Amino acid sequence: MDVHTHILPRTWPDLKDRYGYGGFIKLDHHHECKARMMRDDGTFFREVGKRTWDPDSRIAESNRIRMNVQVLSTVPVMFSYWAKPEDALDVSQMLNDHIAGCVSANPTRFVGLGTLPMQDPDLACDELKRCVNELGLKGVEIGTHVNDWTLSEPELFKVFKTAEQLGAAIFIHPWDMVGTELMRKYWLPWLVGMPAESSLALCSLIFGGVFERLPDLRVCIAHGGGSFPATVGRIDHGHHVRPDLCAVDCATKPSDFLGRFWSDSLVHDPAALNNIVSIYGEDKVCCGSDYPFPLGEMSNVGKDYAAGALIDSMTGDGWTQERRAKLLGTNACDWLAADPSAYWTM
Ligand SMILES: [Zn+2]
Repeated sequence: MDVHTHILPRTWPDLKDRYGYGGFIKLDHHHECKARMMRDDGTFFREVGKRTWDPDSRIAESNRIRMNVQVLSTVPVMFSYWAKPEDALDVSQMLNDHIAGCVSANPTRFVGLGTLPMQDPDLACDELKRCVNELGLKGVEIGTHVNDWTLSEPELFKVFKTAEQLGAAIFIHPWDMVGTELMRKYWLPWLVGMPAESSLALCSLIFGGVFERLPDLRVCIAHGGGSFPATVGRIDHGHHVRPDLCAVDCATKPSDFLGRFWSDSLVHDPAALNNIVSIYGEDKVCCGSDYPFPLGEMSNVGKDYAAGALIDSMTGDGWTQERRAKLLGTNACDWLAADPSAYWTM
């Protein structure tokens, strides 16, 4: 099971026309198998291929590498947290209905995660309930922050509480990267900003007492948690030496929450994968590829789907078949509260 894949509808309405203001993304299908993701001010965001919107292409590629299940979530540029709440809800519902349709057409091959208008926590809670109770989604994908709010913001607590009550999984994905205004070259928002965003999200949930107050909340962080696992000692030390700054909302040592949340495996490096398995626990790391995007786990030649290749390549102490099976499938089912036998033969 690949917990980190993104999907878009093939088309959607022109959102600038629909809402009367700009800032949204649309797909410009300039070729049968390719489209440009364009901002509605005409600027180019990213070129994407057919597998971004076509379920059959995704299943064919999954079959080639014997990947049973893709967990589908939207592309973070579609979160629309900056838009008017009722419009972000409208976008979310369109995307969530699409993902639910993909899952219902291929229920053994896809698991769905919704998106929420997080800038309005009440609307977000209502849509979260709809996602789980009406659409059958296993949870939602949210950003590492919401405009000026970090995930510790009291306003957002009700969303996490609702997720806990519903048993909904939460996938946290970096977006709107911190420091982007300084990082004008070298793709640094993706290489430096995104790892910082993931650590920002985890530290916000830890320091803000969200994990402490919601012991049954099931969170998975993208990209191995970014810079968090490499700096958890520093985070603990800060909590210890400046409790006046760090321990104001949660007295528990940050590293005591290791093992409480899941992470994907997308770290691109054997030493880093060993590190996150050591830090988070071998029950808490899930195969995740960021399919179909270029920073994902793709083959060097042809950028073919290669989810799980790093896990398969691991050797040395601890890399038993049992561990591989956990990382490639059963850990994800634990995070999603999904029955593995619904997806593959045990
Ligand atoms: Zn991603």
